[in-house]
Amino acid sequence: MTETSANFKAKSTIKSADLEHRQKINFNIARYNAIVPQGKHQFTDLTLARERAKNTKWRALETLDQQLEQFEKTFTKRGGKVIWAETGQQALDEILNICKEKNCHTIVKSKSMVTEEIHLNDFLTKNNIESVETDLGEYIQQLDGEAPYHIVTPAMHKSKEDVAKLFADKLGTPSNLTPEELTLVARQKLREKYVQAQVGITGANFIISDIGGIAITENEGNARLSSAWPKTHIVIAGIEKVLPSINDLALFWPLLSTYGTGQKITVYNTIISGPKQPNETDGPEDMYVILIDNNRTNILANPKQRESLYCIRCGACLNACPVYKNIGGHTYAATYSGPIGSIITPHLSGLQEYKHLSYASSLCGNCTEVCAVKINLHELLLENRNEAVEAGYISFGEKLAWKMWKRASLKRSMMNMGNGKLKNKIVNKIFKGWHKHRAELNFSDKTFNEMWNERYKK
Ligand code: SF4
Repeated sequence: MTETSANFKAKSTIKSADLEHRQKINFNIARYNAIVPQGKHQFTDLTLARERAKNTKWRALETLDQQLEQFEKTFTKRGGKVIWAETGQQALDEILNICKEKNCHTIVKSKSMVTEEIHLNDFLTKNNIESVETDLGEYIQQLDGEAPYHIVTPAMHKSKEDVAKLFADKLGTPSNLTPEELTLVARQKLREKYVQAQVGITGANFIISDIGGIAITENEGNARLSSAWPKTHIVIAGIEKVLPSINDLALFWPLLSTYGTGQKITVYNTIISGPKQPNETDGPEDMYVILIDNNRTNILANPKQRESLYCIRCGACLNACPVYKNIGGHTYAATYSGPIGSIITPHLSGLQEYKHLSYASSLCGNCTEVCAVKINLHELLLENRNEAVEAGYISFGEKLAWKMWKRASLKRSMMNMGNGKLKNKIVNKIFKGWHKHRAELNFSDKTFNEMWNERYKK
C-alpha cells in the first residue's frame, strides 16, 4: 500500500465518523438538491440536451488539434498571445516571466481549478508575488490556508458561523457577523486589491475555437473585474476545455449552471476574445492564454478514458456520490475530488500512487445518472481498476485471494468442501481488514447443493 493510499484510508475513517462534518455537507447538498430540479425545467428534453452536449464534446476532443490551432489563429489575430505548456512547471515559469516583465507584485485571481492543480499561489508566494483569490469561497479558503473542498463550492464544508469566526480571527471583525456583512467585508478588502494588481489571472470554462475566445461563468463578477481591471490578463486553461463554436454556448451555459448550482443561467457570463482594441475604452492591454496539457494527453491517448475529458466541472457527480458525502473533498488529497477526480487523478498524477481512488466507490452509478454530459463515470472507475491490475499494481496477497476465489467458484466440489464455520474462519482471516468497519463475513451452515436437495429432491 502506498503512503498516499494509507493516508486516504486513515483520513476517510476519521471523516466518515465526523457527524458535524456530515451535518454541514448534508445541509448544503440538500439545498443544491432542492434547487436543481427548478433549473432542469428550462429544458424541453433534458436527455437530448445532455446527449447533444456529449456529442459536441466528443467532436471537440476528436478534433482537438484542429480546434486548438483554430483558436490560436483567431485569438492571435486580435492581439492575444497563446502559450502552450506541456507541464505544470512550464505554465508556472511562463506566468513568472510575464509577471517579471510587467513588474508585478500583486495579482488578483478568480476561481480556477487548473491553478490549484499547478499550485500557482504557493509558487507566486515563493517568488514574492501576492496572489489574492477574489471568488468569495476561494477567498475564505485562502484565509484559512485550505485548498478548495469542492470544484464548484470551495467552502462547502463551512457553516456561516465557521466563516464569521474565521474572519474574526484573521481580519479582526466581530465574530457575530451575518453572511451579508461578511460579504461586504470581503468586498471592501478585495476592491483595494483590484486597484493595486498589475496582473489578473482567470481560468476559462470554455475555449471557443471558431471565434478565438474564452468564456467565463461566475456569480460574483469577480472574474470580470480580474480580467478587465489590471493591465495584463492571463488565462490558464486545460486543453480539453474546447468547444467548436460560440453557438455551443447556447446549450453549455444553461447546462453548466443547472447542474452546477440549479440556476437557469449563471449571473455573469463573459466572452473575451483578446486584449483591449484601439477603439475600445476598457480591458487589459495584454492578454495571454496558457493552454496546459499536464498529462491530459495521457487521457486523450486512451480511447476508453478519453470520455472523462468531456467534463465541464459542474460538480453534480460530487454532490451525488455517497462516498464524497461521507469522506469530504479534502480526504482525496487531490485537486479534483469525487467520482470525476477519482477517474482523472490517477492519469494526471500517477496510476500507482492514486489507483486507490478508483476503489473509493460503491459503483452505485449515481454519478453517471447525474452527469451533465453523460459520462459513464462508474464504468470508467472500473476501467481504472482494470488498468491498475493490468499494470501489476496489486499486492501478492490480493492476487492470490482472487486466484483462489476463481478456482473455488468454478468448481462445485470445492465450494462444497468444509462446513460454514470452517469457511468463516478461513475467509475472515484472509480478509482481515474487511470486518474492521463491517460485520464479519458469515457463510451459511449448509452448502447451496444441500439446500437445493432438501427443497426439491425430497
Ligand atoms: S463528470 Fe459530469 S457530473 Fe461530474 S463534474 Fe464533470 S460534468 Fe459534472
